[in-house]
Amino acid sequence: MCSVGDAFNVDVADSLNTKSCKCKDCGNEFQGMGKKIICPACQSGNVEVV
Ligand SMILES: [Zn+2]
Repeated sequence: MCSVGDAFNVDVADSLNTKSCKCKDCGNEFQGMGKKIICPACQSGNVEVV
């Protein structure tokens, strides 16, 4: 037993935290992260998780 794998586990959790999102305003599809997802193209918060 050792804690060498901790960094890797954090990395996996981080990638699982991303969601496929689509902006309802401009139709841009992107990977969103966090609770408040904003479209990187038009800065709109009108985003749906797909
Ligand atoms: Zn947009």
